[in-house]
Amino acid sequence: MILLDGKATATKVKSDIAEKVKERQANGQKIPHLAAVIVGSDGGSLTYVANKIKACEECGFKSTLIQFEETISEQELLDKVQELNNDPEIDGYIVQLPLPKHIDEEKILMAVNPLKDVDGFHPENVGKMALGLPTFVSATPAGILELLKHYRIETEGKNCVIVGRSNIVGSPLSILLSKNTNPGNCTVTLAHSKTRNLKEVCLKADIIIAAIGRPNFITAEMVREGAVVIDVGTTRVTDATRERGWRLVGDVDFENVAPKSSYITPVPGGVGPMTIASLMINTLKSLELRNL
Ligand code: NAP
Repeated sequence: MILLDGKATATKVKSDIAEKVKERQANGQKIPHLAAVIVGSDGGSLTYVANKIKACEECGFKSTLIQFEETISEQELLDKVQELNNDPEIDGYIVQLPLPKHIDEEKILMAVNPLKDVDGFHPENVGKMALGLPTFVSATPAGILELLKHYRIETEGKNCVIVGRSNIVGSPLSILLSKNTNPGNCTVTLAHSKTRNLKEVCLKADIIIAAIGRPNFITAEMVREGAVVIDVGTTRVTDATRERGWRLVGDVDFENVAPKSSYITPVPGGVGPMTIASLMINTLKSLELRNL
């Protein structure tokens, strides 16, 4: 079994980006500038955003953190989105999800200028991704592809089962891995909560990707000997032995699945760091796509 070390791979990706930024600086070109908008004080969201800002520093990017109280109105947030759309200094920005219930997430994401949508959530960018046109591919699927590429994992002709069909992970990943690309050319099955005989479906997988949000859901009897296993899940579970009182647990029962797999991602240190590295790739791309 080989551990797919997302942390080390992400460090390499970020240091390659930092080199490109130095070159840009030397050539008098613009330095990428990412803004992150966060509403409220959810612990998970604050950590994710702090990690994104830290990654900007590692890449030599400029960054701006914009924090709002939970009570901000939808209109006020829309006004901020417009301001960021019009600000020539900001190359790309993210609005950290989830948003409070009184704000319509779809309305906010639709208002983001597709050229600054480095999360790749805007329908225009999702459409371009589906057609294989140059665009921002959402960070988690892009990070998984980058990890497969980095470890030179053969995907062509393989049966890939993705469990979970969210708009940000499972669904785009199913499109990307079925394309005539490398990584890609898989025969993809997209499973979800209504899938029948999930165990039998999973047992057919050469590559299994779990994006469900249920700790240890994928057990050893669902995984074929020698499969590649990618665990996207990150659930905080109470852990009194940790100072902070919790730990992150993936969707895969790592302890029992790892011995059967050929490659497997850990949680934490697998897909998570690759997601952030891909956001950095997209931010640099926001300048390149506009020839800046
Ligand atoms: P999500 O919107 O939470 O949806 C979960 C998906 O899992 C749904 O498609 C659901 O099916 C499916 N599902 C739930 N129970 C199931 C069951 N018993 N059998 C089969 N499928 C089942 O998904 P998400 O936003 O992609 O998040 C999934 C996990 O990934 C979460 O733990 C999240 O924190 C994590 N995540 C991690 C990263 C990272 O960078 N590491 C990034 C994004 C998300 P239905 O559609 O039928 O309801």
